[in-house]
Amino acid sequence: MNRSLVLIAGLGLSMFFQTLASAGSLVIENVTLLSPELAQPLGNRYVLVRDGRIESVSDHPITAPAGARRLDGTGKYLTPGITDAHVHVSQAIGLPFGSNDPAIAAMEKSFFAQQPRSYLYFGVTQVLDPSNMKEKVDEFAAQPQHPDIYRCGAAPVVDGYPLIFIPPAVRHQIYNEYIFEPANAKEHPLPAGANPAEHTPEAVVDRIAASGARCVKVFIEDGFGGATDWPLISLDTLKRVRTAAKKHGLYVAAHANALDMQRRAIEANVDIIVHGIWNWNALDGQQGMPKEIADHLKTIHDRGILYQATLRVLPGVTDLLDPTLLDDPVYPKVVPPALLAWYHTEPAQWFKLEAFGPKVDAAAVVAGVRAANEHWATEEKGMRALRYLYELGQPMLLGSDTPSGPTYGNQPGYDTFREMQLMAASGIPLSAIFAAGTINNARQIGLDKDYGTVEKGKIANLLLLEANPLSSVEAWSKIDTVILRGEPIARETLAANAKP
Ligand SMILES: [Zn+2]
Repeated sequence: MNRSLVLIAGLGLSMFFQTLASAGSLVIENVTLLSPELAQPLGNRYVLVRDGRIESVSDHPITAPAGARRLDGTGKYLTPGITDAHVHVSQAIGLPFGSNDPAIAAMEKSFFAQQPRSYLYFGVTQVLDPSNMKEKVDEFAAQPQHPDIYRCGAAPVVDGYPLIFIPPAVRHQIYNEYIFEPANAKEHPLPAGANPAEHTPEAVVDRIAASGARCVKVFIEDGFGGATDWPLISLDTLKRVRTAAKKHGLYVAAHANALDMQRRAIEANVDIIVHGIWNWNALDGQQGMPKEIADHLKTIHDRGILYQATLRVLPGVTDLLDPTLLDDPVYPKVVPPALLAWYHTEPAQWFKLEAFGPKVDAAAVVAGVRAANEHWATEEKGMRALRYLYELGQPMLLGSDTPSGPTYGNQPGYDTFREMQLMAASGIPLSAIFAAGTINNARQIGLDKDYGTVEKGKIANLLLLEANPLSSVEAWSKIDTVILRGEPIARETLAANAKP
């Protein structure tokens, strides 16, 4: 190609990009604006979006750039998109691991294609995945429509949770990022062939930082249910992880949900505990707020440690026992049709069997969970603890931990919404839930320059709602349009059962 042809081609390209840019402008007209930094909603606002960012917010009609699209916001509410700061995008929910069945593979494929759209369907425009599955995160981000995704790196100890669920012979190959824990050296030595220098807390954190993660996740877990003998991370190792993480400007997120485990997290001065406290150890049967739990929560608050309640974790498992679960009219919106049909089959009940055994009294468990959630002030420990923290002035955060296990009781997007419903049921005011899912989460991940409010300069990931989320939590499921980097997407086109 000669030089003038190159020039012409270049000119054509730049004109093409200019056209794209103006086509990328959007004006949202006459809308009621809800943004967490505002004391109250602002009516009759006009929001101009250009090149994926908010350019201006005005209280009078604005002249739209040529070619700009318009969205009539009359009678509707404009909010920032929701951030769910605890999701796991690497699991095709409910499907068995390591199957060679082509039908299962096809369902997996459809799950991963739909998953980002299901988050968007519920207004979740940013997610954070705190596990190590970089490939799956990249696959999520390669889908044509997807929330902005960020990740942490996970640092389990040799043989510890969550590796304990992978067969011993392959666990350290499947999941090759792990820390050698000297305190467990005798029973849980470094796997044969592993280089000790690569599995110190410092070496693991260095690699996590180099991978582009925003945080390091540690697991403080000595066993589920009655178990207390899983290999545990020591306080000394936790402190080394923290020091190494700070060197790289990463924050430390700790999995811990029992009183003794959360105490260790506090002692190690982690930045955030990513589960609510629902195991009160010896205090489990107590009503109200036992002093020891109150003191513990006050310590969390006083030390400035953040706290994600993840209220949906336990109900997400017990939901499997609910015979009406799969009749939920939302399921066809977030689960691909073939997968939903499969959930009804016998093989799909494998995790239910594993979790509850064949003889469980399903009706009794379901009724018990419902009653506990309803009478949370005396019954449900996680909800009680969250409410107590709120009253102390703790900033609320939103993390659904979807899926918390291989349970089809957790579904992408839908569980974020249900987490908000449970927060509301715990007596958390709607304004605090709004802040949790928007500015507080953005700040927690260190992304509040880009997300969390409807203000000039922020990324235009926005929601046009049909109802006011400061009047009812249900408004978070009354979405008209999801705006993704300035691109308006009609909600129903995101449904798993949408006509192409
Ligand atoms: Zn999790």
